[in-house]
Amino acid sequence: MIVNERITDYINSLAKELTPELRALEREALRNHVPIIKKETQGLLRFLLCMQQPKRILEVGTAIGFSALFMSEYSQKDCRITTIEKVEMRLVEARKNLSDPRFASRDKIRLCEGEALEILKELVQEQRQFDFIFLDAAKAQYMAFLPELMKLLEVGGILVTDNVLQDGMVTNSRYSVIRRDRTIHTRMREYLYTITHHEKLETVILPVGDGVAISKRQ
Ligand code: SAH
Ligand code: MG
Repeated sequence: MIVNERITDYINSLAKELTPELRALEREALRNHVPIIKKETQGLLRFLLCMQQPKRILEVGTAIGFSALFMSEYSQKDCRITTIEKVEMRLVEARKNLSDPRFASRDKIRLCEGEALEILKELVQEQRQFDFIFLDAAKAQYMAFLPELMKLLEVGGILVTDNVLQDGMVTNSRYSVIRRDRTIHTRMREYLYTITHHEKLETVILPVGDGVAISKRQ
């Protein structure tokens, strides 16, 4: 928890209810410790979708499909969502959820199975463009994804990056971070420095959920 728990609880108590189907999927994900977007992040995403009204969304990190189905529910009718996942255990659940007829907007979503960096390169080859990118995968790889994401993000598009503050760890000194986490710590700092100083991006970092960076492509 980055922000005072009482404040977060209060803000979350004001959030609009999810559809019953999404609520059930959220509960299932939490029960199985799948790291889906937090309540606060849901609110932010919903607001950004409402503001940006994207037509082509790219998501990196599907997990079991919760955030993809969430975005399909709260985006325009003609919006299309491409989402990438590589872990078989997650894919089994994702395939099931993304074809579940209870989710009326599921047809907007196309699941790409495989290593994100490779799929991103394929999308670049195909000259695909997106006006909204939700980056929510392995944090240590964000820097490696960025050059491809910049090619895929159209001018005026938005890049939303989740988990950038890792429960506040990124603000600790490098030496207080245990060795196992040090590489991620260093790479995340590098990523945040890069997107905040990038000539083509205007970026704000918000202490929402696990930390969310919002970047607009100029
Ligand atoms: N966006 C989801 C949660 C994603 S959790 C939600 O909020 O509902 C992050 C997911 O990214 C994990 O399932 C993990 O397997 C996947 N992932 C991490 N690195 C990846 C990579 N390099 N290529 C494809 N998927 C990756
Ligand atoms: Mg996340």
